[in-house]
Amino acid sequence: MDALPFALPDFLPGQVWLVGAGPGDPGLLSLLAAHALAGADVIVYDALVDERILAMAGPNAVCEFAGKRGGKPSPKQPDISQRLIDLARAGQRVLRLKGGDPFVFGRGAEEALALARAKIPFRVVPGITAGVGGLAYAGIPATSRETNSAIAFVTGHDAQGAVPSTVDWDALAKAVPVLVFYMALAHLDGISRRLIAAGRSPEEPAAIVSKASTPGQMVLVSTLGEIAAQAARRSIAPPALVVVGSVVPLRDGLLEFLLA
Ligand code: SAH
Repeated sequence: MDALPFALPDFLPGQVWLVGAGPGDPGLLSLLAAHALAGADVIVYDALVDERILAMAGPNAVCEFAGKRGGKPSPKQPDISQRLIDLARAGQRVLRLKGGDPFVFGRGAEEALALARAKIPFRVVPGITAGVGGLAYAGIPATSRETNSAIAFVTGHDAQGAVPSTVDWDALAKAVPVLVFYMALAHLDGISRRLIAAGRSPEEPAAIVSKASTPGQMVLVSTLGEIAAQAARRSIAPPALVVVGSVVPLRDGLLEFLLA
């Protein structure tokens, strides 16, 4: 990072940097994220962080996994926050690395609050959230003037793992032309039924973008009425986004010249 014509902030001992790693492709990291990777003593990372990104860590950095692995339950959120606090108090430069953007469905808010309460100096480095970057890599614009002047990012499951009851499905279906669901594969059938019950057409275009911006990226284009069954038949794997709305067919006009 030496050749930059401007200065990036120093990563000082005792600080925590809460950094978004983007959806997968290391090329989507921000300069601040790359700077943090090069300077961190300890990197506490989640399951969705690509290993090519971890490979950018400095030679003496310790990488600690804080996600779900091999069917074992993930570490409890308060335990992760406490770990960050303990490492910072021990004088480490602590990089908390999360997939996408740390404040979008990533529990970054909880961690930032815990750090603030513990009086630990921290920085938040936004990342490209999957709902934006993943769509772009699939050739699906999030908005266009012809199709939508609003978009919603929605989580497909709540803290209990159920279809979120805090979402007003009727209002969402009526008000927002393009819906992007995170963590929605498990409940795709229930979600599409709720949207159709609230008035969305079963013929409406819908797509799934799986492993967006990684070598395993897959895009399934379908309709709201069919997509859950098709995803099950094709065994689409997480992480995946589901996008519903008339931006999906715009992809047809882009694909031929869209570089992968
Ligand atoms: N903070 C992250 C989201 C964490 S929630 C962000 O801003 O992107 C995890 C969900 O993000 C996954 O279930 C999936 O819906 C989505 N996701 C993350 N990375 C993805 C990828 N490479 N491809 C498709 N979906 C992805």
